[in-house]
Amino acid sequence: MHPTHFRWTVIGAGPAGIATVGRLIDSGIAPDEIAWVDPEFAVGDFGVKWSVVSSNTRVSGFTHFLEASSAFQFRQGPDFAIRGFDPRQTCSLGAVAEPLQWITGRLAERVVTVKATATRLELHQRRWAVHTEGSVLTSDNVVLAIGSDARSLDYPGVREIPLEVAVDVHKLGAEPLEGATVAVFGSSHSTMLVLPNLLRQPVAKIVNFYQHPLRYAVEFGDWTLFDDTGLKGHAAQWARENLDGQLPERLERCHVGDPRFDELLGRCDQVVYTVGFEPRRIDAPQWGPLQHNASNGIIAPGLFGIGIAFPGYRVDPTGFGEHRVGLEKFIEQLDACLPIWLRYGA
Ligand SMILES: Cc1cc2nc3c(=O)[nH]c(=O)nc-3n(C[C@H](O)[C@H](O)[C@H](O)COP(=O)(O)OP(=O)(O)OC[C@H]3O[C@@H](n4cnc5c(N)ncnc54)[C@H](O)[C@@H]3O)c2cc1C
Repeated sequence: MHPTHFRWTVIGAGPAGIATVGRLIDSGIAPDEIAWVDPEFAVGDFGVKWSVVSSNTRVSGFTHFLEASSAFQFRQGPDFAIRGFDPRQTCSLGAVAEPLQWITGRLAERVVTVKATATRLELHQRRWAVHTEGSVLTSDNVVLAIGSDARSLDYPGVREIPLEVAVDVHKLGAEPLEGATVAVFGSSHSTMLVLPNLLRQPVAKIVNFYQHPLRYAVEFGDWTLFDDTGLKGHAAQWARENLDGQLPERLERCHVGDPRFDELLGRCDQVVYTVGFEPRRIDAPQWGPLQHNASNGIIAPGLFGIGIAFPGYRVDPTGFGEHRVGLEKFIEQLDACLPIWLRYGA
């Protein structure tokens, strides 16, 4: 029977939760004073849903993340494939998930893991109660690293293909796509993975509904224009050649404000939404919907957020601001926020 009160509880074991557990140990918190809650401990959506996806960030950025925490012990780890990759290139997210799964195992041997979904949070007498399906633990501080779900626009009458299926050409191959007309909403990195995957299937037509011109990331030495919202890597190359270049024969594009929108959507029998992500929620009846301060990650006294659900925000030298999503950004945000969190208890 493990203790039920902790100094820190981290909810979520995706990249952001892994980084938080690592950095808490690095900052001197005793591992047995940390509880770590997740139903799977399989590197989150990053490991489960997106591992076949080609990254939009470089191998060097992932290596930076993997080496960022001494608690990760990455340098002492096995000979992962990523060690042999060109640091300037992109790679599959699965090649990053492999060492992250190994790191999860090392951290899980040191902290107290709770394999469950947290269902409710309450603050009483300056302690957080974290309810799971089967138990309750209490904690001085809680970090939410619970990730986000892909957004759906829920147009009626069209069969939705989940994003995690559409980004995986093998899973997509098992869908009933013969002669189908497929709508794809969005113009994000995911869109540029889904469109070529669909073009490899026996679909009759694809209609890409978009809201704005494509946006490409451009590096300027110490900063990157559209670093978080711009297209990068293979996705950018594919978009330049096929959407801003020569449109493939079976692909049509339609602005969502175009008068033909209803007619074109009416012709589609299936749909993929690549329109961003919605933060997951945990019931916290005292507070209503939990919102974080993007500058410091604070949600409430002793309650903090990190990762894709609670990202940082940065304004670039031109004055343009973006939410910061990606493994390197999570570590940067933690390094900026953790010293504050350590003193902002309930
Ligand atoms: C197509 C695509 C390409 C991408 N490319 C890159 C890239 O090149 N580089 C990069 O750095 N990033 C990339 N990303 C982003 C990256 O995948 C996500 O940002 C990352 O998965 C977010 O990590 P996270 O830890 O915040 O959330 P997740 O990975 O979603 O992990 C959240 C974890 O919390 C758990 N959880 C949720 N609710 C609860 C609860 N109530 N109780 C307990 N546990 C809970 C979940 O089960 C999950 O294990 C990409 C994403 C996509 C979709």
